[in-house]
Amino acid sequence: MKIVIVGGVAGGASAAARARRLSEDAHIVLLERGSDVSFANCGLPYFIGGVITKRDKLLVVTPERLRERFKLDVRTRSSVETIDREKKSVSIRDLATDRQYDESYDKLILAPGAAPLRPPIPGVDLPGIFTLRTLQDMDRIKAAVDQGVRQAVVVGAGFIGLELAENFHALGVRTAVVELQDQVLPPFDKEMTTLLAQTLAAHGVDLHLGESAKAFEKSPEGLVVHLKSGRQLSAQLVALGVGVRPENKLAVDAGLEVGKRGGIRVNDRLQTSDPDIYAVGDAIEVKDYVLESPAQVPLAGPANRQGRIAADNVFGRSSRYRGTQGTAVVGLFDFTAAMTGASEKALRRNERPFRMVYVHPTHHAGYYPDAQQMTLKVLFDPESGKVLGAQGVGRAGVDKRIDVLSVAIQAGMTVFDLEEMELTYAPQYGSAKDPVNMAGFVAAGLLRGDHPQIDVRSLLSLPRAERPFIVDVRTAGEFAAGHLPDAVNIPVDELRSRMRELPKDREIAAYCQVGQRGYLATRILNQSGFSALNVSGGYQSFTYVE
Ligand code: FAD
Repeated sequence: MKIVIVGGVAGGASAAARARRLSEDAHIVLLERGSDVSFANCGLPYFIGGVITKRDKLLVVTPERLRERFKLDVRTRSSVETIDREKKSVSIRDLATDRQYDESYDKLILAPGAAPLRPPIPGVDLPGIFTLRTLQDMDRIKAAVDQGVRQAVVVGAGFIGLELAENFHALGVRTAVVELQDQVLPPFDKEMTTLLAQTLAAHGVDLHLGESAKAFEKSPEGLVVHLKSGRQLSAQLVALGVGVRPENKLAVDAGLEVGKRGGIRVNDRLQTSDPDIYAVGDAIEVKDYVLESPAQVPLAGPANRQGRIAADNVFGRSSRYRGTQGTAVVGLFDFTAAMTGASEKALRRNERPFRMVYVHPTHHAGYYPDAQQMTLKVLFDPESGKVLGAQGVGRAGVDKRIDVLSVAIQAGMTVFDLEEMELTYAPQYGSAKDPVNMAGFVAAGLLRGDHPQIDVRSLLSLPRAERPFIVDVRTAGEFAAGHLPDAVNIPVDELRSRMRELPKDREIAAYCQVGQRGYLATRILNQSGFSALNVSGGYQSFTYVE
């Protein structure tokens, strides 16, 4: 068996190593256009910022190691130019010598990844404007920074853009971020990103939301970025982080099917429309695990797993790819934001019915020092309670909860299962009622009808005259520090004695700081003949959507 693999980083290197483990005899040719294989793309921003200090650490495996340990025929600086499906061969250009030659295959695995977008904006090719994908891109950015960049502009507030902004800031570079959407991290729901935007501002990062770069120009200061609004930003360095596009040229030229957004179409065995050609990683179109619709999800975990699955299938094993949940995490200064499954906006776009809850628990027991608050949003099916998506933002412990919720989604669990989950607890690690259990209690209470809720956005989007009577059940001091419009303050401990102040002929929306006292208030009121709802996530959620 001769296997040729195009692309030697995440998906390609995984496929090659797995193929060797499955067969000592196969001839495995790993072709990589760049000079490095299996490097840690995800670490690149952190080398720029000086967090990772040794460049070698980014070389997870060298070509020599792949040759020695895995007996792979590794060829770097080897660009695959065309595929001849009839002859089952690829044509390769050796970039060192410019020699062109053919290599036959029994099975071909495409793992060419995705290339950063360079939007056709005037001046986008000026020196000083960078994208980040390879170690060489990283070296160029690092060299530019070392030459004395004072101001940088990052275009795009996605994962890579924010990581770059943080790392430029760490180097003492004054940094501006320009983002077309009205929020950072567009895959997240907007209210979940409020804290991140605030932390950028608190660190002096100049954030321009709902803005776009219209032109780049040379200036005595280096570069000027002209924004759509007419504003101008000076910089000596611009980093573009506006997304990626699948590297599909080889596949398209060979007549393989690609999806609407250019991803190479594969079945659940990761076979393309040609059964002898497999494709993995950022270049492919995947099935969204929750929405079951086609999607492009450029993440390292899926690429690595797909590499293994493609190799399994090459050797006749029946491994299936289940689809991608989009489980992702990013650190920004001392915050963590993570998500898995469908967002609220994706569910709305797909007209998929859902309910959602917010909780704001601490990452470990509140009585233990340094308990840090997080916000979790859990989206679920209104009938079955099946978990559809989750997002979290906070300092510590967010990644752990989103990982648990990710597994819950993959296992097809419901919010009733979240109530029952048995998770680790000692005061320094969690709580006897873990944040995931808490989200389960709140969501399950909603579905059982024990705990009617309304989210703050839905509440405030109602015309004033149609809104429920709003009761703030926090203390007078908390109320005085800020409250929802038109709210009346009756602290929960006084509620039983002051019920006559509440209308019986109108729905009541009760809220507290995070939802817990509001829940108790709702239970008291509903058992006393009122029709009451709890405002999900309380005043804290209001501060995110305000
Ligand atoms: P790549 O890893 O991009 O590998 C594709 C390789 O194929 C490239 O090296 C390319 O040179 C080669 N190639 C392409 N065409 C040809 C050809 N014709 N001939 C020969 N070789 C070819 N994901 C996360 O999950 N978490 C993170 O924190 C994270 N951080 C990231 C940070 C940065 C700066 C970047 C750039 C990406 C990050 N990612 C992260 C995304 C992750 O790196 C990718 O999803 C993953 O590497 C995709 O794997 P892949 O094998 O499909 O493509």
